[in-house]
Amino acid sequence: MTLYRSYMFARDFSMLIGGRVLFFSTLSYQEKLNQIVRETSELAKDVHSMFGKHQQEVSLIVQNADAELAKGGDPAFLLAEIRDSLKGVVAKMEQDANVLVSLSHKDSLTGLANRRFFDTFLDECVERWNTTQETVSLIMFDIDRFKKFNDTYGHLVGDQVLRTLAVQVQNIIAPLQDGSSKVLAARYGGEEFCILLSGGVTRQAVRIAEQLRKTVQKTSLLLRDAAGKVLESGLKVTISVGIADIWPKWGGAFQTNLVDCADKALYHAKNSGRNCTVRYTPEGDKTYTVISKE
Ligand code: GH3
Ligand code: MG
Ligand code: MG
Repeated sequence: MTLYRSYMFARDFSMLIGGRVLFFSTLSYQEKLNQIVRETSELAKDVHSMFGKHQQEVSLIVQNADAELAKGGDPAFLLAEIRDSLKGVVAKMEQDANVLVSLSHKDSLTGLANRRFFDTFLDECVERWNTTQETVSLIMFDIDRFKKFNDTYGHLVGDQVLRTLAVQVQNIIAPLQDGSSKVLAARYGGEEFCILLSGGVTRQAVRIAEQLRKTVQKTSLLLRDAAGKVLESGLKVTISVGIADIWPKWGGAFQTNLVDCADKALYHAKNSGRNCTVRYTPEGDKTYTVISKE
């Protein structure tokens, strides 16, 4: 049942949320389709608006040139002006094209990388591992019992939770980017996310996963109405997390195996009571090992 239609989160909400959840990849076909349609239509709107803006600029250049010619202006001078103006428009179009490329890599709700870009980045990481032996680790996480949260507080409040979680992920990975390590946070689908690590930073995979899980666990959310009145406080979510490292003995299909093993580790975390981290440990006593609880 949706309790509140009009809501607003406390300003410090995103700073407070902490924790993490990994979940099995169970997005329905319809949900995946909805996500792709939403991303594509937003991108199409951006293309349309940028194209329209430049069309107007070019029309203006033509109008000004016509007016100058009608006044008997010097054609050589006019031509130079038109050339400069068009160069300016082309430069802006190039900038816009770069913006569009970057938008096409992003999930529109959270601003994290989208699934398509994650797949590309994973290919690059595996390629680098093949050539330079730089290891690759994947952290997958999923919000615990998120359906119930949505049913209780409404889908829009749920969306705010996803955005806040994305901010927390970004805060945690921001200091990790350096020349020798590569880190990408992506929305894998629905309420499932992942952090892909390549290089020396893979040694920190467990620490990163635990930092995120504990951050989410500690976070309290406030629900306010449009006038700022607190409707409810102390809302909490948790996440379950699965970690896998690339494993040479797979012999091939490394991308698929890495995702599959992280996904299974997440599944084990769900089955171990949620709000915990499980690691794929092919050389250990158990193939999947619970790293932490609480
Ligand atoms: P578990 O602990 O096993 O992961 O339980 P769960 O309820 O989180 O898992 P389940 O797969 O049953 O439900 C996932 C929920 O995530 C249901 C779906 O509505 C919600 N969800 C997926 N994408 C979005 C989204 O973009 N926004 C919101 N608000 N909810 C989403
Ligand atoms: Mg899920
Ligand atoms: Mg879930």
